Amino acid sequence: MAVPFVQDWDLVQTLGEGAYGEVRLLVNRQTEEAVAVKVIDTSQSKECAENVRKEVCIHKILTHPYIVRFFGHRKEGPTVYLFLEYCTGGELFDRIEPDVGMEEKEAHRFFQQLMAAVEYLHSIGITHRDIKPENILLDNKDNLKLSDFGLATMFRHKGRERLLTKLCGTLPYVAPELLGKSEFKAQPADVWACGIVLTAMLAGELPWDQPSESCQEYSDWLQRKTYVSPWKKIQPTPLSLLSKLLLASPAERISIPDLKKDRWFTQTYTAGAGRCQSVFLRSTKKLHTGSGSISRTTSDDRMQFSSSQPDPADGVSEAMLFISQAGGQVSFSQPTKPEHMLLGSQLLATPGASQTPWQRLVRRMTRFFTTLDADASLSALRDACVNQGLGVKHTCINQVTINTLDKRNNKLIFKVHVLEMNQKVLLDFRLSKGDGLEFKRLFLKIKQSLGDIISSQKILLPNT
Ligand code: ADP
Repeated sequence: MAVPFVQDWDLVQTLGEGAYGEVRLLVNRQTEEAVAVKVIDTSQSKECAENVRKEVCIHKILTHPYIVRFFGHRKEGPTVYLFLEYCTGGELFDRIEPDVGMEEKEAHRFFQQLMAAVEYLHSIGITHRDIKPENILLDNKDNLKLSDFGLATMFRHKGRERLLTKLCGTLPYVAPELLGKSEFKAQPADVWACGIVLTAMLAGELPWDQPSESCQEYSDWLQRKTYVSPWKKIQPTPLSLLSKLLLASPAERISIPDLKKDRWFTQTYTAGAGRCQSVFLRSTKKLHTGSGSISRTTSDDRMQFSSSQPDPADGVSEAMLFISQAGGQVSFSQPTKPEHMLLGSQLLATPGASQTPWQRLVRRMTRFFTTLDADASLSALRDACVNQGLGVKHTCINQVTINTLDKRNNKLIFKVHVLEMNQKVLLDFRLSKGDGLEFKRLFLKIKQSLGDIISSQKILLPNT
């Protein structure tokens, strides 16, 4: 896809795929400022053009520390570019270990940040309507950033609230009233989705396919059978909050002001509580926020690797990605003058872009180094997939696409990039379509079956 960008901004790599296009990373050659650009082809449907218009209208008015910043947009024929704060920490679902979740303390912090973002949205009359871990990104300090306002809408204007009628969102996350009623309130539906996100963080699984009584798991929940999974994995205090968040009646469901008084929500965790196996790395350059109004020195920035990752070799791989930067230093900044990238129109194709150090900055748990060369790694990967009955297609050089159905019979498509770095081969898995947790589950299965070709080389980490 040719993208008309401004001088000095390199199109580095694809960060992710969305419903109508891709999200890519742009880096300024001189300043090393980084920005994510969502490229949307609106010619696909009339509905798409209208949705993007709405996404821009809403996202551009949002300013909150836990919401992805919107720098601006640009239209080139049917293609719309949305310039967004680049979130280096990846997606929240990547921190959720299938069937396990994450440390309660970590989930607690993410949940508090998520509720702060949603409270802010509701205070200005906006509802997100598609809250799920795939739409929650993290920055380099592991702060949560709510993203993707493609389904957001206004439910209150000049103090007058309207009821919603459109059924939208993602089935396992939608509130029961969306399936049963023609009109429903916006705020309790977002609160419900946050309850499902909390369940996923604490138990590593989604409680049901959809909240309808024909669904056994949901009807078990209605009968308070908390001795079954996922509830039995959750401690009584957070479980008590979940029973208020996931109340079938939207009128009785806990409101955000009441939630802020909940025992678990207000709980403080003492330092050192829970497992603490994080690896810290330091970066020494400056980090600017988009407006330029806040500027922090990151001399004591901690690049923290989640302790929920399945095996320590992952942490080492991640660390290697950082250490392989020149001199072990990592620089990262958000644009101080976002208007610079919205002006001008010089085309900058970036040959060999996949080799730039920026590629190495994107943090993802779903990857590993192998002990083989690229061809042998690809062929081992293909065999592992075929053995598990997965369809594999060679989509382009150094990339295969895996196409399958998850346990809910929903499409699950992901890509595996084969990258050569420092004479080592990295297999980098990225979800294209489907449920994040199911993707992670399958990734772990494939990884397990490739156990004997995974590199376990240990390296010394600075400042740990
Ligand atoms: P869609 O609205 O079409 O679903 P998203 O906005 O959810 O698209 O983006 C798709 C994927 O791209 C995300 O899941 C994420 O991996 C990546 N992504 C999106 N925005 C950013 C960003 N600001 N920084 C880093 N990665 C991003």
